[in-house]
Amino acid sequence: MHPPAYEWLRAYGMNRRDFIRLSTLAAAGFLSGCATNPVTGRSQLMLMSEQEEIQIDRQNSPYQISSDYGITQDRGLEAYVDRVGQQLAAVSHRPRMPYRFNVVNATYINAYAFPGGTISATRGILLKLNDEAELASLLGHELGHVNARHTAHQMSQAMLTQALVGGAAAIVGTQGSTLGDLTAQLGSIGAGALLASYSRDNEREADDLGLRYMTAAGYDPQGFVELMEMLRSLNKQKPNAVQTLFSTHPMSDERYQTAVEAVRTRYSQDKGALYRERYMDQTAGLRRIQGAIEAMQNGEKEMGRENYDGAAVQFQQALRIASQDYTANLMMAKCRYAQKRFEEAERYAVSAQQAYPGEAQSYLVAGFARLQTRRFNAAFRDFEAYDVRLPNNPEILFFKGYAQEGAQRQQEAARYYADYLKVVQQGPQAQHAYQRLVQWGYLRQ
Ligand SMILES: [Zn+2]
Repeated sequence: MHPPAYEWLRAYGMNRRDFIRLSTLAAAGFLSGCATNPVTGRSQLMLMSEQEEIQIDRQNSPYQISSDYGITQDRGLEAYVDRVGQQLAAVSHRPRMPYRFNVVNATYINAYAFPGGTISATRGILLKLNDEAELASLLGHELGHVNARHTAHQMSQAMLTQALVGGAAAIVGTQGSTLGDLTAQLGSIGAGALLASYSRDNEREADDLGLRYMTAAGYDPQGFVELMEMLRSLNKQKPNAVQTLFSTHPMSDERYQTAVEAVRTRYSQDKGALYRERYMDQTAGLRRIQGAIEAMQNGEKEMGRENYDGAAVQFQQALRIASQDYTANLMMAKCRYAQKRFEEAERYAVSAQQAYPGEAQSYLVAGFARLQTRRFNAAFRDFEAYDVRLPNNPEILFFKGYAQEGAQRQQEAARYYADYLKVVQQGPQAQHAYQRLVQWGYLRQ
């Protein structure tokens, strides 16, 4: 079998060498050389300017946030977390970055930062915290990664690799899936694929900065030790829900010891507040549905084991506690899809749409379910609705084409397939698109 990429490029009069040259030129665009690290003042290999950091953030963070079931609809909680974060940002080394602190609906335990200052914490991790000082420590640590430009450095390398293989689309794309098995795509467009993985040195520096920022903002440094204690105990139990957290932010006893030592010595004079009651008040809505969030965590664990019957029991339990929860409905939709119960998958996806009409992912799941039940026109409308909410995902071009093909509209299908092949040239979907264009006489083999 021929790799479709070069076949397709040949149809456009390009050979393999042209293709590689083109890719290398594109990669060279990122090589803006060394920049001064705002924290250390030292020069550092930086493949990205500040404007590029912001750009990369704006392009990528919406996909991660959507794959984490969107920003919480609890506006009070969202505003509270942003307020705590902004106080810390004001005392950081790069106070002028366009920071935005979010709570995402995902239930696994995680927090992450994008290089332009988008910082998110999941509902799962917020339930593990006991006071505002711990929250400030968590956000301060993420802020540390942005300030020391760890994320930019990481992403520069990732982007470079992407550019060299010529697959910019892979950043938002999905790999290894076939038409027969769309289940993999439902999981998450990159559970962690878009996140930077930090080194132990990065973690050390981010902890150091996080502790500095939270005490400067008036919090009790003991909160930082509490956060480390919590992470240390999770790292020992290793529940399924923390995999991404610790694969991106390596945890160690040393991090805990370092924090204890710093608080005992350098910060012994800092007597800030923990703000426990305020934290409990602001997160009361989360605590009310704690049982549902834990059931979702259990359900995701069963999904990971491909025990879909077991997962369904957990998601049912979550829905009994929180029937209007977007995440619970959508997780159930994915589970039913995996069980090939497509009608039910569609019904739960529609409930998710109703629970959170602005969020994109439920339209993708509904669209996939409708492709399976051969309701191609409805599927096409779902993909359009997805596209409005989360634009520029090249994979959608393929699915629109596929829905049009199913609905026997060859010309429209061909147009989407051709547009898809302009951005994605590898994988089973590109192959399908390419083969159809040849079959239908739009391309010569
Ligand atoms: Zn970290």
